[in-house]
Amino acid sequence: MRIARYTTGDEPVYGLVDGEGKKIAEVTGDPLYQRIELTGTTTTVEEVRLLAPVIPRSKIIGIGRNYADHAAEMGNDVPEEPMMFLVPNTAVVGPGDPVVIPPLTSEVHYEGELAVIIGRMCKDIEPDEAKKVIFGYTIANDVSARDLQRGDGQWARAKGMDTFCPLGPWIETDLDPQDVAITTRRDGEVVQDGHSSDMVHGVAALISHASKAFTLLPGDIILTGTPAGVGPVEAGQRVEIEIDQIGTLANPFVAAE
Ligand code: MG
Repeated sequence: MRIARYTTGDEPVYGLVDGEGKKIAEVTGDPLYQRIELTGTTTTVEEVRLLAPVIPRSKIIGIGRNYADHAAEMGNDVPEEPMMFLVPNTAVVGPGDPVVIPPLTSEVHYEGELAVIIGRMCKDIEPDEAKKVIFGYTIANDVSARDLQRGDGQWARAKGMDTFCPLGPWIETDLDPQDVAITTRRDGEVVQDGHSSDMVHGVAALISHASKAFTLLPGDIILTGTPAGVGPVEAGQRVEIEIDQIGTLANPFVAAE
């Protein structure tokens, strides 16, 4: 099932998207927290403005260096345990929304990633239980200011600035996360061509690891790391991330006014 959050000019609503990613059937309520029912209203993806499919109430947990070839391209070793960082929910924007590059940085990179959405409150879970707490998957761009990442000694500003976490285009609830291609294009040119099977720590291990540090709440998001091929993106460029069986998340990059 694909669940989109969108607006037609009024309050955000949710809907079920068809397999082709074209039609939307509106539902009542927020599927993360409530039982949903079809309202009978239908529309098309083209006619609405898609929004970030979830705004985390609690947290986004990023995972660093979870693909060996990406760790290597940055001159890093693969960490033995998943390396976690937190991103504030104010960084989230939706499909098509601009990523605003502030004057604080002059070295912004895209990072195409599979994002996991938690569906149930949990703590201290083992990897073999992780599937039960997953609501679904979406696509994330873990936009990173490399100069701040190097200079700050931790990653709060580098990855947490406003608009630096585009999510979308919708949530896919039926997906095998071990077997999807992740392709990033910058102005149409393929710059990342990875596969989730190359993650160092798989989705179940990441959820287990995160849950041993933090209580996970419905709507929390885990960014599972980026494959090799990261690179700069400048104002005026557009980044599209496509993940098999989910769809494509596209965002323009602009300079702050
Ligand atoms: Mg990342």
